[in-house]
This record gives sequence, C-alpha cells and structure tokens, in this order.
Amino acid sequence: MATQVHSEIHSESIPFPVTVEPHTRPAAKAKKKLVRRTDRDYSQIMRRSFQVAFLLLNIWIGSIFYFWVRQFEPGGTATSLQRPAGVEGWLPIAGLMNLRYLVLTHHVPALHPAGMFLLISFLAMSFLFRKAFCSWLCPVGTISEYLWRAGQKIFRRNFLQNVPRWLDLGLRGLKYLLLGFFVWAVTSMAADELAAFMNSPYGVIADVKMLNFFRHIGEAGAITLGVLAVASLFIQNFWCRYLCPYGALLGITSLFSPARIRRNPETCIDCAKCAKACPSALPVDKLVTIQSAECTGCLKCVAVCPAKDTLSLSLPSLSRQRIPALAPQPTKLPAWAMAAGIAALFFGIVGFAKTAGYWDSQVPRATYQQLVPNADQAAHPMPGEN
Ligand code: SF4
Ligand code: SF4
Repeated sequence: MATQVHSEIHSESIPFPVTVEPHTRPAAKAKKKLVRRTDRDYSQIMRRSFQVAFLLLNIWIGSIFYFWVRQFEPGGTATSLQRPAGVEGWLPIAGLMNLRYLVLTHHVPALHPAGMFLLISFLAMSFLFRKAFCSWLCPVGTISEYLWRAGQKIFRRNFLQNVPRWLDLGLRGLKYLLLGFFVWAVTSMAADELAAFMNSPYGVIADVKMLNFFRHIGEAGAITLGVLAVASLFIQNFWCRYLCPYGALLGITSLFSPARIRRNPETCIDCAKCAKACPSALPVDKLVTIQSAECTGCLKCVAVCPAKDTLSLSLPSLSRQRIPALAPQPTKLPAWAMAAGIAALFFGIVGFAKTAGYWDSQVPRATYQQLVPNADQAAHPMPGEN
C-alpha cells in the first residue's frame, strides 16, 4: 500500500501543526453543479424558417427571371413579367463595384443597384449579428447545411475533425485570397471605369450570363459543382468554410460587431456540447467570448447548452465596474430579437430602395431585346477597354 507523505509545518504564530499534502499531481477539477435551464429554445426553428423562406424566395425570383429572359430568345413566349431586380443578389462583384461607385460619386448607380442594396443589408447584418447572412439566409449555405446533415446520417461522423489543423487553416485562407483579389480589382478602378464596365454589354446582362452558366452548364462546371456537393457531404459547409469570398467579406465585417457569443465560466459545467454542435468547429467551451470571423451566429451552441444563463449572443456590458460581482451582465440578444433584426434590415433596406426608386436597373427594353439573345457574344471587358 502506498504511504502518503505528509510534511508538518510548525510555526510560532500558528499554535497547531498544519499538515500539507505535497502536490505530486494536479488536483482534479471540481465538477460543477448543473443549474438546468428551463426556457425552451426556439432559435433553430426560427433560423430554419428563415432559411427555407429565403430559399423559396430565391427559387421564385429565379423562375420569374428565367421566363423573363426566355421571352427575348428565339422560340420564347412574350410575357408581362417584369425583370426581378432581386436576382442581382447573385452578382456580388457587381454589388461591390456599385458600392465603390456610390462611395466615390455619392450617386446611386443606374445598373444593378439592387445588388448593392442587398450587399449593404448583408454587411449591416454581419456587423450587428455576426455572419448571420450565411447561416440564416444564404441559399448556398442552406443547401450546404442540408447536404452535410445528409452526410452525417449516412456516415455517422464528422470528417472535419479528421482534417489536420494546418490543412484546415491553409484551406480557410483560400477564401480570403479570393476576396483580396476581387477587392484589389474593384478598388483599383476609378468611378468612370466602374461606370464603363457596368454599361458594357457584359455588365448590362451579367445576370443573364449567370443564368446561362447554370442553364448550359459545361462538363467542367458540372464536375466542379459535383465535387463541391460531394465534399459538402463530408465537411460541413465546405464551400462556405474554404472558398466563399462573400462569406470572407462578411466574416471580416463581423469582427467589428459588438455582439458575440459569450460564455459564463462560472455556471458552465464544461460538458462541451456547444463545441460539438458548432458547425464552424469553434472551441466554444474553452473561450469566454467568440471573436472568430468564422462564427455565423447560427446559435446552435446556445440551443444545445443545458446550463442556465451560461451561453448567449450578447452585447458587452458598458459598465467599467472592476468588481466582477457588481458588474452588470452583458445584454443578451434573444433569438427572436436577432430574427426581428435580420428581417428589419432586409425589408428596411430593400423597402427604402424600392420606395425611393433606386431598386430597378434603368435599362430600356430595346437594349435587352438586342443583348439577351446574343448573351454568348458579350465578353468580359478587358482593363482599359470602354
Ligand atoms: S460559435 Fe455558436 S453561433 Fe457561432 S458558429 Fe459556432 S455554433 Fe454557431
Ligand atoms: S454547452 Fe458549452 S457553455 Fe454550455 S455548459 Fe456545456 S460546455 Fe458550458
């Protein structure tokens, strides 16, 4: 039987012997008592409702746009449908170019302004609610999430955990490289160059060319989409995590957001359910605040946390109180407030653009009649070309 070694300290000031156990191994962390939360979490119902609604909205916009385009093509049927400007949400580079044009000239661009207003609303969402566009609205993010859920059902494991950290970090850098290239290309253009690009045949029907890419997808395009879909079965949000420059831009914006996932280490029982649920593989159970550009504000971590008042999306306390016990708690942003905020930003900014007459592109119908049937011939303008 192992004998326990004790040392005794005798001191004049201490009238009794004190027995000290030498620390031969670190003391085991005391297990904290779980104070179970009693509120029901509706965040994932709300988030999925938003995802489905936005996906349906995009399918509806895409269908109208398809019939609108078809009327200009040989064999197409005339229609009274108006061009749905919301389709410009699929032209993020045009949105970025127009935003730069607005900043430089203080004039709302005449071509594809809707793409710019959508970009502004998504940037505002990222500032207020982390990268919420990605997990609450983006149709690609939604499809990606459902593909991964299907993959998880089939394979019963999360392959992201098998990706070495160095490889994961390197791959995550790709989307920032792509973003850097687009930002460099856009910011190196002067206002007149931006206007010339937008007014070129390619710029005017950039949305038609995007539709045609999917309608007449070639072998290389189909293989690329297939690879991305299969990769999404294994790695959650493969496209979003590694390749999407739009998500990279929103992620950088979210770094300035005062709203963050905050964990209360006092009440946390270290069960790690939050980290396991996080689709961005963030160590939520180890950190006090999540500052990462990868956090999409999906609230999955909050939804699974069993402990009361422990994990929330919240704003920092403005108090400078130094005594923690007296300092007010951070202001929590409940899921319904986040949902209301996302809806208010989307409908508010789109509503403003529509009522102010800025929403629709100012292009005569005759121009579309001339350009749409010959969309294949509209080449990307080269630098210096007008
Ligand atoms: S930290 Fe929470 S809110 Fe952020 S991505 Fe992970 S699960 Fe979603
Ligand atoms: S889910 Fe995360 S925050 Fe909540 S108790 Fe477990 S480890 Fe702590």
